[in-house]
Amino acid sequence: MDKMDLSYIINELGEDRELYFNAMAPPIMQTSNFVFRKVDALSRAFEDEMSGFLYSRGLNPTVDILRKKLAALDGAEDCLVLNSGAAAIFASVLANVKAGDHIVSVRKPYTWAERLFSVLLPRFGITTTYADGGEAADYEAVLQPNTRLIYLETPNSWTYAIQDLQGIAELAKSRGIITIVDNSYCTPIYQQPIALGIDLTIQSATKYIGGHSDTVAGVITGSTALIRKIFENEYLTVGSGIQPFNAWLLLRGLRTLPMRLEQVTQTTRRVLDYLKSHPKVEATLFPLDPDFPDYERARKQMQGACGLLTFIYKTDSRAEIVGFCEALQHIFMAVSWGGHESLIIPRCAGIDPAHFRPEKKEHRMLRLYVGQESADYLIADLEQAFLSATGG
Ligand SMILES: *Cc1c(COP(=O)(O)O)cnc(C)c1O
Repeated sequence: MDKMDLSYIINELGEDRELYFNAMAPPIMQTSNFVFRKVDALSRAFEDEMSGFLYSRGLNPTVDILRKKLAALDGAEDCLVLNSGAAAIFASVLANVKAGDHIVSVRKPYTWAERLFSVLLPRFGITTTYADGGEAADYEAVLQPNTRLIYLETPNSWTYAIQDLQGIAELAKSRGIITIVDNSYCTPIYQQPIALGIDLTIQSATKYIGGHSDTVAGVITGSTALIRKIFENEYLTVGSGIQPFNAWLLLRGLRTLPMRLEQVTQTTRRVLDYLKSHPKVEATLFPLDPDFPDYERARKQMQGACGLLTFIYKTDSRAEIVGFCEALQHIFMAVSWGGHESLIIPRCAGIDPAHFRPEKKEHRMLRLYVGQESADYLIADLEQAFLSATGG
């Protein structure tokens, strides 16, 4: 498929303004059902719900504009937009496994992907092995005769583990195994998994696509055949398609996606440099930093990186980390990322204080999301919080 111009995709593709009074902004087609005048036309829609508009649990015109843009951004043939990133993971995985099958997943995928693999799917006789390392050989080593699916997330969050997408896709193709990658960190602007041979790409659109911390949504892109298979079964059965208003918010978010990422990229670089030079920071993790352990592989397959980074606080004291987080005036403590506002989460929030061990680096990790604020504004906030936490 020819690569379309990014500006065209974002500003025009999928939009037919003559259909709606030449309005610049697309309408929110807030309807559950669609009217038919001919029985034959209704029959056709029953037979193939992807052939037209029947009912908004299936297709909807506002959602369709978004589907076309998101498919084109990924260089994919087709796309489905769901009510959350977790729903996108659920539908894309479920569509490609059956009882007795085996999945190979990256170690430590997103929390609710791991719950699916470790808790839900075993109830139906589907097992998962977690692979360590990012090379095709690391995946080949744990394949079984019944492996049907390889599930990746590169970079993953917190540690930004990188997997060789092209190498693993080639391995999978040679064995008839489907590949899925969670591309939420990079978005299609900074990483193009389909071009590297991956079958299905998923994203949490809650993050950068929405970009304003006001919508929960997920994306699946892939070939016409794989997307149709998901649509006709999991998508319609689970009923987790996105609602028209949320689709409209994502369309609005998309208009500024490239410039938001560009801005965050520049600010992230400055904040990272500040943290790397700070005496209370033992180490930082950011995939496109030359000091990152897997920098070369990241650079090879990613066109950019921004926003999320992790730093290890140099201290023996949980209280100091708590004091630092609670002293921040402008950086909010909250989950998620990709919005306009900078966010922080200390790893120790998920660890029983009695089990906090300062000798474990992981316990002293903080994940920072750099938003749309100026670098100076964020660095000043970090600086005063370090001073406050150390009693300065
Ligand atoms: C947030 C996130 C998800 C889940 O997306 P939701 O929209 O919250 O359901 C999946 N993968 C990654 C990497 C995420 O950060």
